[in-house]
Amino acid sequence: MRALVTIVLCAALVAYPHAQFSLVSVEQEIEIGQQANAQVRKEVPELRDEQVAGYIRSLGRRLAQQASGPKYPYTFSVADYREINAFALPGGPVWIHRGVLHAATNESQVAGVLAHEVAHIAQRHAASQLTKATVANLGLGLLGAVLGNGGGASAAQVAASFLTNGIFLKFSRDDEREADAAGLQILRRAGWDGRGMVELFEVLQREAKRNPGSVEVFFSSHPSPQDRIARLQAEAGRGGGGTRDTPQFQAIKARLQKMAPPRAMPRH
Ligand SMILES: [Zn+2]
Repeated sequence: MRALVTIVLCAALVAYPHAQFSLVSVEQEIEIGQQANAQVRKEVPELRDEQVAGYIRSLGRRLAQQASGPKYPYTFSVADYREINAFALPGGPVWIHRGVLHAATNESQVAGVLAHEVAHIAQRHAASQLTKATVANLGLGLLGAVLGNGGGASAAQVAASFLTNGIFLKFSRDDEREADAAGLQILRRAGWDGRGMVELFEVLQREAKRNPGSVEVFFSSHPSPQDRIARLQAEAGRGGGGTRDTPQFQAIKARLQKMAPPRAMPRH
């Protein structure tokens, strides 16, 4: 798993700071994401409890319906890890750590995390990062393959190269800002209170003081919540309303408490 979250894109970002074009088609992006997801499934313990997994899928589906952009085949899975984190793979797969469900105090906070990840996918952040990484790290041979034939083979090649080289996606600060803003819109359009997104960041700050290890993964891949809280607060405060919590969420929390505790993410 560590290989998947270890990021080697700094060189790419320095060399191509304004590369907004995409060499990756929507179809390729979906295929790359599915291959990456197969790899993640081999390494990440999935929480298969149908009530919990089905609940997260239902929240995710509601959010995905509100996403702009291509109609990606979104999927939502729960990793049985206690650290607070979530991640999106290109073209549809979203994972949320069980730790988020333990830390959140209402449904809108969990929906906020999922909305942020859906926004990364909908805004095609992965496609632009893949483009930058392809250009910077993989050389002209593969670039030629990507440009030369739009078939599945080239997408598979790109995905395989990324995975075997341990290169995976790190979104830029601009991408994170955009995912917060677009995620907030998705969250609200799907009927939740936008303040849930801000509250989750506040939960993260509290957890960082109480138990730094539980949020370390999140902070290594996301900008500090402080900046984001300030920016989102103004936005989320306007025209509140929407669902904050449901009995289902509290039932899911109670159910999780009765299960064996979530695992710690392996450290390599
Ligand atoms: Zn993000």
